[in-house]
Amino acid sequence: MARDPRYDILFDQVRIGPVVSKNRFFQVPHCNGMGYRDPSALATMRAVKAQGGWGVVCSEQAEIHPSAEICPFIELRVWSDQDIPMLARIADSIHQYDALAGLQLCHNGMNAPNLYSREIPMGPADLPVYSVFNDPVQARAMDKEDIRNLRKWHRDAAIRAKRAGYNIVYVYAGKLFGGPMFFLSRRFNTRTDEYGGSLENRARLLKELIEDVKDAVGDTMGVACRISMDEMIGEEGFHAAEARDVIEHLGEVPDLWDLTLSSWDNDSQTSRFAEEGYQEPFVLGVKKLTSKPVVGVGRFTSPDTMVRMIRQGVLDFVGAARPSIADPFLPEKIREGRMEDIRECIGCNICVSGDHTASIVRCTQNPAMGEEWRRGWHPEYIREKESDARVLVVGAGPSGLEAAMMLGRRGYDVAVAERGTALGGRLIGERRLPGLSAWGRVADYRAGQLATMPNVEIFYDSDLSAQDILGFGFEHIVLATGSSWRRDTVARASLTAAPLGSMEVLTPDDIMAGVRPAAREVLLYDDDHYYMGGVVAELLAAEGFAVTLVTPAAEASVWTHNTMEQHRIQARLLESGVSIRAHRILQEAADGTATLACIYTGRTEIVPCGTVVLVTARLPRKALAQSLREQSESWGDAGLRSVTVIGDALAPGTIAAAVWSGRRYAEELDTVPDPDALPFRREVAELLPFDLSAILAR
Ligand code: ADP
Ligand code: SF4
Repeated sequence: MARDPRYDILFDQVRIGPVVSKNRFFQVPHCNGMGYRDPSALATMRAVKAQGGWGVVCSEQAEIHPSAEICPFIELRVWSDQDIPMLARIADSIHQYDALAGLQLCHNGMNAPNLYSREIPMGPADLPVYSVFNDPVQARAMDKEDIRNLRKWHRDAAIRAKRAGYNIVYVYAGKLFGGPMFFLSRRFNTRTDEYGGSLENRARLLKELIEDVKDAVGDTMGVACRISMDEMIGEEGFHAAEARDVIEHLGEVPDLWDLTLSSWDNDSQTSRFAEEGYQEPFVLGVKKLTSKPVVGVGRFTSPDTMVRMIRQGVLDFVGAARPSIADPFLPEKIREGRMEDIRECIGCNICVSGDHTASIVRCTQNPAMGEEWRRGWHPEYIREKESDARVLVVGAGPSGLEAAMMLGRRGYDVAVAERGTALGGRLIGERRLPGLSAWGRVADYRAGQLATMPNVEIFYDSDLSAQDILGFGFEHIVLATGSSWRRDTVARASLTAAPLGSMEVLTPDDIMAGVRPAAREVLLYDDDHYYMGGVVAELLAAEGFAVTLVTPAAEASVWTHNTMEQHRIQARLLESGVSIRAHRILQEAADGTATLACIYTGRTEIVPCGTVVLVTARLPRKALAQSLREQSESWGDAGLRSVTVIGDALAPGTIAAAVWSGRRYAEELDTVPDPDALPFRREVAELLPFDLSAILAR
């Protein structure tokens, strides 16, 4: 299909200092939990982005010196020449597909607790480090020698970036990650020397760093400056007016301005709290302050929004981290006019949780993310079928849909049997919950792809029994039958069910099916800790129920710290009148009251309660698998070779895990796994020469 000429503007070349990007698609730096631990996996992931058409592909933050490292988070390092081969592998991989490679140099300053290096962190003032875990570490105020050193480290790192083959190098002053931002900010920078006080003074360090880096490598490399447009904490923080003043002041110093919000939770807001393009008000007008190109983000997945950003002079580059994770081929699809193939980011921030848990990035929409090198998965391609076997997928939730779509792409004849009348499984109900409508894209994308596949047939209203299945004659059966929420309190805090007497008990499944509490006074017990408890509480409060959210955790939806939503969820619940009772277990309920026990002291209290909504654990739907196994002696006659349970039916988890499970099935069909082999490749650090006796004899 030909590209709509409206989108041609997205494919203009844009100059960044001495280098030129082939188009306006700019994969801005993003963390991924791989970094120095998984360099080849990282190189392959970035190469896939380049293959997918991004004109610029950047690294995550690359720590330039051990005096600022953010262990336990796993990023890149540019500490010494030892790091160059790893960095070069990434740059070379990006270059294979004609993209510019960018390295985001970063000295985290007083954001870095230095738990690994044990160096004393440095910042503009003597203050506790500004780190996620409130580490018991203070930074010391930098003196002139420290500043001289910092400038040299940036120069050295830029030269290493050049030797590693990068085209663009960053000076990072954003998101309270890049150390120079602490100098820009009045609340951290209380200095009285030429690096504190006036805005010009506070911006001095940033200016010097950019100039040093330009001096070192600017003849051949584009030098970008990443800055935050607002901390979103009002006048006290570094705010929009100041950011504009800094850009006006330093307007022509870097070759490119990369605009973000601060902190990361504001920069990467989820779809539950922000629409596509939410950063527009903050970046509007910046282009008037500089002649240099400007890149900005906002979870852009719609080519029309992208075009508007360029045409209206808001941005020069369409920046993306998450949309490039969900669909590394977004630019290519627009270039080829394949709009219906775009796999839109759903704004769930499961990708962010990879960085926060120091595990490899995973994506709800793109199960190949992070698996490109270690398992050989590609977001677009999959090898052809290796037999003429026919496959029946039972259940059309995220796991069944992904399995069917990828099996279909491999060329197998696939039938999908769904007992309901729509595709999407759990998403059918979940997408109707407050703030989760974008999550429906997981089902919509796959339904759209399946509709174009002549080798995949979908059967609705098909609640299949084992007998039915054995009668059909498929060689392979995939059971993607999902799970149901438990109707008791068994989850994490208690493994035995609390007595609930004759109390009305509802589960999220009931709520999603439209059932509502009979009583106005609702106690929602959340021992799941991800989004469901908070979302259901929000829904019921909005409908006028008096909701008390009880949780053994310290906060509502506590795992959503990993998706950077917890504070917003807690605020929304409090604003909607939900009372939050933390550190409590639901011990029993009867006759209009519930007994809660403190998890520390065991002390109990009695609270009024008419209906209990339990958000606890889930039970896999196993009956069909069980019944098929019981009839395994008739498999041979039926021509059946395998029965595999995937997704929530195997073990309930996230939507991302269900999609991944479906992909895994499709990848592994017709392979014979080696039971002694690891399920994926990994990289093991090279050992250096080792003289134990010399160390121990000291
Ligand atoms: P997952 O997240 O693993 O994909 P879901 O719960 O989202 O799981 O989806 C499971 C789907 O399977 C639901 O749409 C459900 O209606 C369907 N299903 C469950 N049992 C059967 C069955 N016996 N026959 C056909 N479809 C089934
Ligand atoms: Fe988007 Fe979610 Fe994928 Fe992150 S994990 S890129 S937010 S779909």
